[in-house]
Amino acid sequence: MKEVLTVCPYCGVGCNFYLQVENGKVKGLRPSKEHPINRGSLCPKGATVHQVIYHPDRLTKPLIKKGGSFKEASWDEAYSLIAAKFAELKERYGGKSLGLLSSSMATNEDNYLAQKFARAVLGTNTVDQCARLCHASTVAGLISSFGSGAMTNSIEELGGAKCLFLIGSNPAEAHPIIANNFIKPAVRAGAKLIVADPRRTELAKRADIYLPLRPGSDIALLNAMMNYMIAEGLHDEGFIRDRTEGFAELREVLSRYTLERGAEASGLPEELIRAAAETYAKNSPASIVYCMGITQHHIGTGNVISIANLAMLTGNVGKEASGVNPLRGKNNVQGACDMGVLPEFLPGYRSMGDGAARGAFEAAWGVKLPDYEPMIWCTRMWDEILAGRLKGLYIIGENIAITEANLSKVERALEMLEFLVVQEVFPTRTAEFADVILPACSFAEKDGTFTSTERRVQKVRKAIEPLGESKPDWLILCELAQRLGYPMAYDSPAEIMEEIRRLVPTYGGITYKRLEEGFGLQWPCPSEDHPGTKFLHKDRFTRGLGRFQPVEHRPPAEEPDEEYPLVLTTGRILMQYGAGSFTRRVPALERANPENFIELNSEDAGRYHIKEGDKVRVISRRGEIIAKARITEIRPGTAFMPFLYQESPANRLTIDTLDPICGIPEFKVCAARIEPVG
Ligand code: SF4
Repeated sequence: MKEVLTVCPYCGVGCNFYLQVENGKVKGLRPSKEHPINRGSLCPKGATVHQVIYHPDRLTKPLIKKGGSFKEASWDEAYSLIAAKFAELKERYGGKSLGLLSSSMATNEDNYLAQKFARAVLGTNTVDQCARLCHASTVAGLISSFGSGAMTNSIEELGGAKCLFLIGSNPAEAHPIIANNFIKPAVRAGAKLIVADPRRTELAKRADIYLPLRPGSDIALLNAMMNYMIAEGLHDEGFIRDRTEGFAELREVLSRYTLERGAEASGLPEELIRAAAETYAKNSPASIVYCMGITQHHIGTGNVISIANLAMLTGNVGKEASGVNPLRGKNNVQGACDMGVLPEFLPGYRSMGDGAARGAFEAAWGVKLPDYEPMIWCTRMWDEILAGRLKGLYIIGENIAITEANLSKVERALEMLEFLVVQEVFPTRTAEFADVILPACSFAEKDGTFTSTERRVQKVRKAIEPLGESKPDWLILCELAQRLGYPMAYDSPAEIMEEIRRLVPTYGGITYKRLEEGFGLQWPCPSEDHPGTKFLHKDRFTRGLGRFQPVEHRPPAEEPDEEYPLVLTTGRILMQYGAGSFTRRVPALERANPENFIELNSEDAGRYHIKEGDKVRVISRRGEIIAKARITEIRPGTAFMPFLYQESPANRLTIDTLDPICGIPEFKVCAARIEPVG
C-alpha cells in the first residue's frame, strides 16, 4: 500500500491526510499527525471523503442532451459541439453574451486557466465563482480598509489570543477543526470568548459573553461598542495616530451610536454591549473571527468594514494572535479569488480597470482583454439572461440551482439560456439544465494546489488515475481552448503554476519543489528565499495606512411583518458540505441529517402549535418548502435552515437583494411564516 499526502477538498481549514492506495485504488485515508492545523484529526466530512471517489453516480463520460435526455458522447463530439456553439454565440452577440462560473473546489491551476479561458478565449469578463455568495464582501471590505482581502492572521494564532470575538461564525459546525484544535483549547486556557449569533451555538454556550443579536444589526452593535470604547478611553491612541487615517470622520459618526441606540437596534441589553466592549478592548491581543453571518447581508461590505474599524481602534491588527479573520467556506475559495476568478480583478487582485495591469496580462496572454464594464457578478447573471443579454454559460463545479438566492428566478434563467455547459464530478440539479455535461475528475485524481483560509498554498497530489473518461479541469479547458483557436497548452499543473508565479507577485516564491518540502507556504511569498507570511500588516498595512471608514446601520432589505412574522436565516451544518453533492453520497453523513429542518424557538413553536419533529410548511414571498421542526435556543422570532437540500431548498425562500458594492445576496435575512402540515 502506498500513501499519498493531499488536502481535504471540503472546507477552507485545509486539513491534510494520506490517501491509502493499493493496486491503483483508494482503500482508505489517514489524517496527517504532523500537519500544523489538523494535527492528526479530521472532522466527519473529511474522514469519509474517500468513500465518494468510486460512487456509482460518478460522471465518467461526456453527455449531450438530445430530445430532452442525456446521451453518452465522445470527448471529440462534446468539444466540437461546445466550440461551435460558443463561436456562433460570440459571432452573433459578441463575447459579452458568454459567461463562465468556475469552482472554488477546483485547484488554483484550474481556476487560473478558467479565468484565462473566459477572458482570452471567450472574450468575456463575465467570470465569477461562489466567493460572490460567501465572502465577496470580505474581499471588498478588507481591501478598502487594509489593502488585502484575506485573513490577517493564521489559524494557529487563535490559540494565543487573550480574547476571541466570534461574530456571525459557527466554527464548531462550519470549520470544526479550528474550533476543536484552537478555539476550545484557548478558552480552556483562559482566553475570553465573546460570541454574537442569533443561534445559541455550541461555542455560544461556552462564551463569557453571549450576544443573541437581531439578524442584520451587526453595524449598530459594533458602532455602539466602539463609541463606548472611545468614551472610556479604551482605544489605542498610538496605533490610531501612527498607523491609520480617517479617525476623525469615524469618531463623528460613532458619536451618534450610544449604548441605548445599539441596544434598540440589536435587541440586546445595554449591559451586554458594554461588557463585550470592555472585554474585547482590555484583553489584547484580541482576535475577531467572522464568517457568513457577517458577509451575507445587503450591507455585508459595511459589516466587514465595521469589524476592521473595531480591530484598528484597539490596535488589534498587525500583531501576533490578533487581527480580522474571515473563515473561508470552501477549500479553495481563497485561491479562486487570488487567481482572479472575479470580474473586478485579474490574478493577484490587479484591477480589471487598471491600464498597467491590463497591459501586463495582455502581453503575457497575447490578446486584447475584454472591457471592464458592464461588470456582471454571478448574482447578476440571472437578470442578464432573462433580459436576453447573456446567452451562453459554462459552469465548472458549481451547483447554483441550489446555492443562489431566489431559486425560482435562477431556474427560469437557466431554462432560457441558449447554451449551457456543466463540468462536474457528480450529476447535480444545475446539470439537469445543461446541453452538455463534461465529466471532471475528483481531487484524488489530479495534481495542483489549494489555498486555505489562512493563505496557505498546499499541494494536492494525484493518488489514482482519473475514473472512466473523466479529466482534470485544467486539461479540459486547454483542449477546449485549442478547439476555439487559442494556443492554451500546458504539460502539467506545475507549468501553470510557473505562469501564475510570474504574474502574481504574492505567489512569486511558491514553487512545487518548495511545496513538496513541508505543509505549504502562506502568501505573500514574493521570492524563492522568502519563508511566507504568518500575519499581515505588521509594520505597514498593505495599502499604507489602515483606513477608518464610518458605516451607518441600515435595516435588512425585508423585515418581518404581520403576514411574514419570522426572520429566516440560513447556513451550514456539521455533517454536510456545500450543496451536498459529495457528502449526501456518504451513508454515515446522510444518516445523520437525511432531511431538511427548521430551527425554531419554543415560544414561536408554541404560537404555531408545532412540536419537535413536526413537518412544517415554510413560506416566503418567493416560494415555499417543507421541513422538519427542531426546537432550539435560537433567538425568539428567528428561524434557521441549512441551504443544501435539493428536495427542500431553503434558497427557494431567500431574497436576492444584493449588496450594491460587492453583489452578495442577503441570505441571512428574509421574512417568512410557518404553517403546520396536515
Ligand atoms: Fe476537511 Fe474542513 Fe473537516 Fe478539515 S475541517 S477535515 S478541511 S471539512
